[in-house]
Amino acid sequence: MTDPHRQQEDDRSPERSVPRGPAETSLDVGSATLEGKRSRPAKAREPIFELSGVEVAYSGKVAVRDIGFDVAMKEITALIGPSGCGKSTLLRCLNRMNDLVPGATVAGTINYHGQDLYGSTVDPVEVRKRIGMVFQKPNPFPKSIYDNIAFGPRVLGMKGDMDEIVERALRRGALWDEVKDRLKTNAFGMSGGQQQRLCIARTLATDPDVILMDEPCSALDPISTGKIEDLMLELRERYSIVIVTHNMQQAARVSDMTAFFTVQLEEDGHRTGRMVEFDETQTIFTNPNDERTEAYVTGKVG
Ligand code: ADP
Repeated sequence: MTDPHRQQEDDRSPERSVPRGPAETSLDVGSATLEGKRSRPAKAREPIFELSGVEVAYSGKVAVRDIGFDVAMKEITALIGPSGCGKSTLLRCLNRMNDLVPGATVAGTINYHGQDLYGSTVDPVEVRKRIGMVFQKPNPFPKSIYDNIAFGPRVLGMKGDMDEIVERALRRGALWDEVKDRLKTNAFGMSGGQQQRLCIARTLATDPDVILMDEPCSALDPISTGKIEDLMLELRERYSIVIVTHNMQQAARVSDMTAFFTVQLEEDGHRTGRMVEFDETQTIFTNPNDERTEAYVTGKVG
């Protein structure tokens, strides 16, 4: 595929500003959280992904349909909604991980830096280098801390001093100070929270511009979760992050934009995931447009 950065320079979509409405109601998700460390000055958004009419099916059975929203540079986008509404399915579309799921098909349009992510000339391996993924359960390789980070750059034949590449990734993953004296020890000796930060650092080593996170804190204790959330806010300065989370406080604490999904009973009797609304996180949690969103974020329905 062509260099997406260059593509973006040449072919940037018109800048769009996000509508900002006053918060008229205050729902019970901790508005102090929404006012706090997340708040940033209004700015024009630079779309990195643009989705329209996205539909994913497994062996012909539609799991999610009619999905359309965009993901901007240097923002955290949260996907929330009840279990089975297709959050993870959609996340996996963003770096073509669903290509690896037998029977999975993706229809509609997903543009990445203005280019069709599913275009015939796009190399999925290159895609996964630029769009990293972190999973629910930390999954370090059974190797040293150093070799975990160096793995991707070595496979990809990245040029440069490997020690520097490893140190940079570990620093960006907020792990360097904790592990610099034991880089050659096995990653399995780390705590769960450290292992998850190692997995984040591992994705950073191949110089991505997007990090996809699928419930990255669900296996972690509150202190480790707090460290990952702080790290996400640091990473936002440089990367775009899309996070699936079932933890609404987490979505409210870290994300800039939120897409709310639900499961809808279709006329043919099937249940499919649908996106109800996409807006600034503040709006979704304090003044949503749709009563289904309000019912979900206030905990009236699960
Ligand atoms: P969520 O992340 O919101 O819990 P998922 O994306 O995991 O939802 O699942 C959405 C729907 O797709 C569910 O009906 C689920 O059973 C189905 N699904 C997910 N993964 C697969 C798969 N690999 N094969 C078949 N069906 C799947």
